[in-house]
Amino acid sequence: MPDSAELQSLPELPVEELIACHECDLLMRKPSIEDGERAVCPRCGYELYRQGHQVIGRSMALVVTALLLYVPANFLPIMQLNLLGQTSVDTLWSGVLGLYGSGMQGIAVVVFLCSMAVPLLKLLCQLVVLLSIRLDFGRSYSLLLYRIYHHLRDWGMLEVYLMGILVAIVKLADLADLSLGLGLFCFIALLLVQVWLEVTMSPHQIWEALSGEDVHARD
Ligand SMILES: [Zn+2]
Repeated sequence: MPDSAELQSLPELPVEELIACHECDLLMRKPSIEDGERAVCPRCGYELYRQGHQVIGRSMALVVTALLLYVPANFLPIMQLNLLGQTSVDTLWSGVLGLYGSGMQGIAVVVFLCSMAVPLLKLLCQLVVLLSIRLDFGRSYSLLLYRIYHHLRDWGMLEVYLMGILVAIVKLADLADLSLGLGLFCFIALLLVQVWLEVTMSPHQIWEALSGEDVHARD
């Protein structure tokens, strides 16, 4: 923790040299760390940020992987259901259409936004931000896009959708002959890649690279 003399001098420092802890709001001088190190709050131990190797390259590989998985996850069959001689093949997209067709237009729109539109927009925002850092163009637009991305994060609910699918599979397994489709495995893979991406794409390094301060993140 900084001593009282340092605390009194903090307000005179430029704002770029200060950092506040997300958990306990402790205001401190931003520590400079090397590649592979992480900065933690001296008061509560929360990780302030970490400096990773090749953040942009790794994040870009993960974004492209997620975009490639997005199409089969949404349009390949999640499950195939045989009930009383009738076979139905369900995809995420046919689920949305089914809701819309059965009079639940409002729910269909919410499911479409949270499970298809927002996750895709998030990935596209991340891709453009990473490309703009790598190729050094349109950083001011990318700052705006990255802000939008942080707002979109609250609205992408793939994991909630996955829980719904798993509950439906467990419930239906006793009633009908059920087989899992390739779409479900792509969907789970998409979720895992997105979690990996969240961990890899350090917001601290992205913000700094976008504002043109950091050269480490661009390797
Ligand atoms: Zn703290």
